[in-house]
Amino acid sequence: ESSLPHNAVKPIDQHAIHQLTSGQVVIDLQTAVKELVENSLDAKATNIEVRFKDYGLKSIEVIDNGTGIGSEDFDSIGLKHHTSKLAAFEDLTSVTTFGFRGEALSSLCALSASVVITTATAHTPFGTILELNRDGTVKSRSGKVARQRGTTVSVSGLFTPLPVRRKELERNVKREFGKALHLLNAYALVPCTHGVPAVLLSVSNTVQGKKSVQLRTDGSDSLRAAVSALWGPKMLENIVELNLDFDVETERSVLRRRGQETSNTMTSGVRVRGLISKFSVGGGRTGIDRQFFYINHRPCNISKVQKALNEVYRTFNMHQSPFIVADFILPPDSCDINVSPDKRTILLHSESSLIEALKHAVTDSFSSSRSTFTVNTS
Ligand code: ADP
Ligand code: MG
Repeated sequence: ESSLPHNAVKPIDQHAIHQLTSGQVVIDLQTAVKELVENSLDAKATNIEVRFKDYGLKSIEVIDNGTGIGSEDFDSIGLKHHTSKLAAFEDLTSVTTFGFRGEALSSLCALSASVVITTATAHTPFGTILELNRDGTVKSRSGKVARQRGTTVSVSGLFTPLPVRRKELERNVKREFGKALHLLNAYALVPCTHGVPAVLLSVSNTVQGKKSVQLRTDGSDSLRAAVSALWGPKMLENIVELNLDFDVETERSVLRRRGQETSNTMTSGVRVRGLISKFSVGGGRTGIDRQFFYINHRPCNISKVQKALNEVYRTFNMHQSPFIVADFILPPDSCDINVSPDKRTILLHSESSLIEALKHAVTDSFSSSRSTFTVNTS
């Protein structure tokens, strides 16, 4: 029995706090995979292999040929807010890497049964195996193992320290695995939308000792070629370029000074680049699963924008959801990726103006192409 009165305000212990905040960074299987893949991309990997065991229930392993981790960083990589990617807070406005908060590895350590990292840099002709503790400190460090330059991060027993969330994952594992695959498809397509060298990405799942390949890109820089590699060449017959340019009125710099509110409105140019199903074909009923959205090449959920695009599409083809790859290229200061801990929800300033402008642009573009496509109104 505590001697404290039962309504006393008490601090939560550090371990519990760490688990709570970690649970906001890594919310599900998909975000766990996303963080690992983004770390590989940040490390300039050109080849990334993702291996699931039992749909990720047993383990998720991401193997890359990136820069590797130098021994001077071994003790800090698993610690919260330790990152090699951002030195000062001012840098936040110019982030070009996916990660910058040093929370992913530390969260994964807190939320799984074990995290093991094998890594080698260009300066070390061998690899080191690091086993991390729940709190991100190094539990064991092996000597030398054969390893080409790069990093392997292996996460076992995701969410086992949080029994309720673990049960949830087990119950919905096929659906959760599907979401993770959807995101991996989005990453497989992203390089192709803006011409950086494509990453060879392969994904497999091993169930009861049987390994099956889930997706594999061919390293091509063309979006069409990547679509063909992922879903077969027949897909190409049914899609056209999505190529929109329009202006959005954005309100910014709302300053409250001496009770006075000033806002300045300015016009920002928006470009949308990607692919979309022809009206005559649609994406079939599963179309929604094949919609990929990006802001400035970063995969993200922009559900209101997605909904608007689907609505416009439906006025041309009532019964189908299209296949969509849409990369929105916006001025960097018109969105904020830092609003949710999992970085999936992006705050778009002037979202409703953007959606209105998008609807007009899509309608114009679709209307002008009506003549070239068979419109299915039945
Ligand atoms: P962040 O990505 O925000 O820096 P993380 O927790 O995801 O934070 O990673 C912590 C650090 O571990 C990174 O800054 C990076 O130095 C290192 N790291 C993690 N994964 C890799 C990888 N695959 N290759 C090279 N370095 C990595
Ligand atoms: Mg990271």
